[in-house]
Amino acid sequence: MPKETLLKQYRLCKRCLERYVSTGKPSRPCYICQGLMDNLGAIANNILAAIKDFEFDTFLIGATLSTQLYEREDTMRARLKIRGRESIKHYLTRELGMRLTRLTRKQVEYGKPDITITLTVDKENNVNVAVISRPLAFAGVYIKKSRGLPQKQDRCASCGGKGCNSCNYSGLSGYDSVEGIIANELVQITRGQTPKFTWLGSEDQSSLVLGSGRPFYVRVFNPKKRKLKNKTIKDSGIKAMLNVINYIPVIQPHFTVQTKIHIRCKNALTKRILKKLNSLSGSKVSFENKSKIGVKNIHSVRVRQLDSNQFTLTIVADGGLMIKQLVGGEEFMKPNISEILGMKCECLMFDILDVQIQ
Ligand SMILES: [Zn+2]
Ligand SMILES: [Zn+2]
Repeated sequence: MPKETLLKQYRLCKRCLERYVSTGKPSRPCYICQGLMDNLGAIANNILAAIKDFEFDTFLIGATLSTQLYEREDTMRARLKIRGRESIKHYLTRELGMRLTRLTRKQVEYGKPDITITLTVDKENNVNVAVISRPLAFAGVYIKKSRGLPQKQDRCASCGGKGCNSCNYSGLSGYDSVEGIIANELVQITRGQTPKFTWLGSEDQSSLVLGSGRPFYVRVFNPKKRKLKNKTIKDSGIKAMLNVINYIPVIQPHFTVQTKIHIRCKNALTKRILKKLNSLSGSKVSFENKSKIGVKNIHSVRVRQLDSNQFTLTIVADGGLMIKQLVGGEEFMKPNISEILGMKCECLMFDILDVQIQ
């Protein structure tokens, strides 16, 4: 029996009918969609309202329809032995995509759309529209010219970093750190949420960060503004410069750090004793990290005695070398400064003079 004849057994609206046959008389109420397809204009208007605050060039529409609707369509298809037609979900999202392209002059994109619109249709055909935008990635550097500001910020106690009203969706406990100051600014300019930082190395609260600054990456979630120029942030003795980038590298780049370490020793120092530290130049130090042995290269060292038991050591070493461990040697690091000098030494302070990405 031809499909046209079989389809007479079901009342279908124009749009549900045309997915199966080229001719036929539409009627209502539609067995499959029960009027959903008559509301495309209203659904498109709901979408326009939901996306109005978002800056975007490309979008994608997805939908979750009620199981009852799928079941009705499947029952009909099974009874009539119909296969391989466009599904109602595909039709709905394609049709709405075309309308939205017409209304906004933006393009549908499947790979990396700027915004993703998700429709959820319940069994009474109520439509909920949710919009989420693709995270924005930034590459930045910061310089810290005054002491006392910590690098990192604790998570918000109410949400644990997920973002909530009380932290203004930053996910942070406040804005009194390098991370907090930059995060606060980024949330404001992007109207996004919960910036996530990847730092190339770390420093102490008392450390300065000089030279070309410490590089970092940051990802801001669900931004509403995404057409941003390069941004400079100045506050509380830090200066951060940020650029929008397409993606954050999966593997952290190799980097070297020039660090000036202020060291105090238990006993009196002589030139002859301090000279021993030259052996660190061009050497490798090994250390234990999460029960694995790590190795870092020390490329160069420069020693300057300050008084009878203090000196500064300026080193260029692989990024991630733990400075206090290198000085103190309480935790396993070999060789370390206390061991080389044959006396207990402590790190009073260290400053980052420069960071170079290799
Ligand atoms: Zn229909
Ligand atoms: Zn919170």
